[in-house]
This record gives sequence, structure tokens and C-alpha cells, in this order.
Amino acid sequence: MKKVNNYIDGSYCKAESSKTIRSLTPAHSTVAIGTAPLSGAVDVDRAVEAARKAFPFWRAVPAPKRGEILYRAAENILKEKEELARIVSAEMGKIIAEGRSDVQEAIDIAYYMAGEGRRLSAETVPSELAGKDCKSVREAIGVFALITPWNFPTAIPAWKIFPALIAGNTIVFKPSSYTPVAAARLAQIINDAGLPPGVLNLVNGSGEEAGSLLASHDDIDGISFTGSSKVGEGLLKLSASLTKEISCEMGGKNPIIVMDDARIDLAVEGALWGAFGTAGQRCTASSRIIVHRDILENFTEAFRKAASALKLGDPLSEDTDVGPLINEEQMNKVLKYIEIGTSEGASLILGGRRATGGSLSEGYFIEPTIFTGVRGNMRIAQEEIFGPLTAIIEVKDLEDAIANGVDYGLASSIYTQDVNNSAIAERDLDAGIVYINAPTIGAEIQLPFGGYKKSGLGHKEAGGMGGAIDMFTKLKVIYRDFSGKLQKAQMDS
Ligand code: NAP
Repeated sequence: MKKVNNYIDGSYCKAESSKTIRSLTPAHSTVAIGTAPLSGAVDVDRAVEAARKAFPFWRAVPAPKRGEILYRAAENILKEKEELARIVSAEMGKIIAEGRSDVQEAIDIAYYMAGEGRRLSAETVPSELAGKDCKSVREAIGVFALITPWNFPTAIPAWKIFPALIAGNTIVFKPSSYTPVAAARLAQIINDAGLPPGVLNLVNGSGEEAGSLLASHDDIDGISFTGSSKVGEGLLKLSASLTKEISCEMGGKNPIIVMDDARIDLAVEGALWGAFGTAGQRCTASSRIIVHRDILENFTEAFRKAASALKLGDPLSEDTDVGPLINEEQMNKVLKYIEIGTSEGASLILGGRRATGGSLSEGYFIEPTIFTGVRGNMRIAQEEIFGPLTAIIEVKDLEDAIANGVDYGLASSIYTQDVNNSAIAERDLDAGIVYINAPTIGAEIQLPFGGYKKSGLGHKEAGGMGGAIDMFTKLKVIYRDFSGKLQKAQMDS
């Protein structure tokens, strides 16, 4: 069992309190993978102080030099990929192939941001006056609180840590209390690549205590949060009153639209991956499948058949398709939504129960679950469930499909062979990410990632300009007059 510590000002340290969090393996709920400290105010203060102290030095390191450290971190994560992936799968419960892709995303963003150290561009534009320069430059913001969820234990922290670092910020990172071991290993590898003390600090603890103390700390300049809309909305209110920079990536209720001209085999394969990959515990999970009535029967039967063949089991076995849910609370929440769906009048055509055969009873497994006859206004069609449950909704045409609105707007997808349907969906789907002939998951790090409406507020993650670089920099505009006289803009010619 791994004993994780906090990491503050270049040293591993215990929290002030001796209380700890036990990180359990969701596939075998009584087995602990590690423990981490439950930090409180003293620990948060120390970490913020260390980050503040390190900021003037780190922001002055030339960005290409910061990039060299990030490049070494990328190389080191690559070397440790398999070990980290196994920690991710054991601790979070995603199947090992997905554990590897979680780590691969961290590697991808590390290389990408290392290169960004030689770009970090802003603008130089002509002045309307002779003997005058006009330009903007990007500057680091200061000390950032990074608060992350459990469903991508290495990818999401990396999406925040690498752009924050390349831009010259210093960090206090509070990972989810369900995945402290993976987070600590990632932070250790990055620090070992040569970061100066105080630049990347790790504070473990509960969201309610360490998370909220950190977010509301007077000496934090910015917050980058990924998690539920409920917590995100609370942080937004808090940051508005404290005038901090904040970006929140939050929940989703993502649709796949399957048109009458779609390739049904492709749509079935995509829906299977979108709905049941990561046991549905992705912000971008395909939790609504909106199907044209002319192909409803064919699609539904093929989808049900394919989903019924998925193998549940130990996430570390290479032949498992679907792993467990993260914890008992999440499992019970999904079971509750199955009751809600049934009581709302939807028809359960697959699954609907906790899976308990063999060793499955040791973990939090739920059978892949499909409801049909779902109406757009039902709770199972509106609320984020975060489990292996998807709702099939029948529509008469594309307009009807697009009109199926929810409060969220993260990812959306359409399966169609018709270029006009594709173009209309691209234009009219009210979501931050649109996929054509692919499910609602599959983003790549070189483009910004984030949602509309309740799914995201503030700057987007990943990508460069327009994405994470905007999140972690502020723009300064500089006018330099070398004419040797007073020149008045908009007045002198
Ligand atoms: P969560 O409960 O909102 O927690 C996210 C993080 O916030 C955790 O580190 C948590 O700590 C911390 N936290 C909780 N309460 C806090 C508070 N009052 N102040 C400050 N921090 C607090 O979300 P989750 O259950 O970990 O993750 C699932 C959610 O994340 C889903 O809604 C999913 O859609 C969303 N998500 C969104 C994206 C995206 O990019 N849009 C990506 C992945 C996940 P503890 O762990 O100690 O509670």
C-alpha cells in the first residue's frame, strides 16, 4: 500500500493533522491502494506561501527554458507509462487500455506545452501614428489552485499543470480524494524533471475542507477547476466575490444523433464506446442516443445485442470491456436513476441491476443499461448520471433531434452520410464540441476543450491560444512612442 504525502516547497511532508484518506480500489472495495493526508488550513497556507515565494523566480525563467523542463517531464512520464496506467486502472477502475490512454493524454499535453514555450505569442500591430509601436504580450497570472476530479486521474491534472507551468505560473494542486496515488505519482515525475522548489506543490485532502480553503485563499490568483456543475457553480460565486480568475469545466449530458441515412454498424460501435467506455463516467459520455424513427428498430436491436456482449470484470484484465464505478455512492446514484427511469415510464431493455456474479460482488459494478421510449423531458434524459446508462430517444427528423435541449452543452455527435445534415448539425448543435460520424468522446489535446451552458465557464482547457494558454496568461498591451513628441491617438494624423 502506497503512503502518499503532501509535497510543499520541494519537500515531501505530512499534513498538520494525522488524519488520512484511504484510497480504495473500486473493483475490490475492501482493498486499499494507498493513503493520503487530510490537509487543513495550515497545510494549504504553507503550500500557497511556497508557491507565492517561487513565483517571481519561475515567471522570470525564459519560457523556452521552462519548456525544456516540461519536455523532460514528458519523456519521464513516457518511461513510466505502464506503471502509471496500472495505478490509474486500479485506483479509478477504468480498464487498463483506458488507463494507458489517460497517461498518454498527459504525455501528449506535456510535449505540446513544452513546444509552446517557444511560441506563447501575442500580437504586434501597426500604429496609426508614426514613431509608435503597438503590441500585446502574455504574462503569467500568479499562483493557481488546480482542483481536479477522479475520472481522469492523470490526464486532467496534466491538462492544467503543463499549460500553467509553461506560462510561468506556480501551482497548488489538490487532486480528487478518490485518486491521490495516481496524482501524487504524476506530480512526483513532473517535479523530478527539475522544477525548482515551490513551483508545483501538492496538497491532498477533501474538497469541502482543503479544496474550499484553497479556492478561497486570499493569495491565490486563479482557479482552474474540473468537476461537477454543483461544485463549479459554488466556486464561481466565490471567485466573483474575491475577484480571482476562474475557469470551470463541468458536467455533460451528451447526445449522439443517429440519422436515417447513417451507417448503422458505425453508429452502434460509436454508441457502445460513447455510452459504456469508462463505465459511462466521462463528462463527455454519450448518455442520450437520439435516433431517427425510420431506423429506430434496427439500431436499437443491434445496439442492445452489442451491449449485452460487453464483459464486465477486473479493470486490469486485458479482456475486460467495462470496469466498476468509482465508489458505492456513485453506484447507488446510478441505481436510483434506473428506478427513476422506470417510474417515469421508460422501458428498460438491457441491464438495470448491480452486477454481482463471481468476484464482481466485491466491486461497484453495474450492468450496461439501456432505456428506450425515453422522452426528452424525463429526468434520465436531462440530468447527468455518470454511469453505464444511456437513454434512446425517438425523433422524426433532424430539426426534432437538434431541438432536444438540455442545460448542458459539452459534446454532441451526429451519424449521417448526408453532407447537409452534417453542416446543419455543426451549425446548430449547442455544444462546445461536435463530432461527425464519431461518438461524443475522442478529443485531442491540440484543440481547445470545453463546453457551453452549464458544462463550462471561463476559458477552455487544452489547445494553445483560444484554449489553455488563454486560461493561464493575462494580456498586457504596450504602446511605445519613440517620435520624441506628444502624439495624440485619434487626434493627430
Ligand atoms: P466533484 O465532486 O465536483 O469534485 C471535483 C474536485 O473538486 C475534487 O477534487 C473535489 O474534492 C473538489 N471539491 C469538492 N467540493 C469542493 C468545494 N466545496 N470546494 C473546492 N473543491 C471541492 O466532481 P467529481 O465527482 O470528482 O467528478 C465528476 C464530475 O466531474 C462530473 O460531473 C463530470 O462531468 C465532471 N467532469 C468534467 C470534465 C470536463 O472537462 N467538463 C471532465 C471530467 C469530469 P474531493 O474529491 O475531495 O471531493
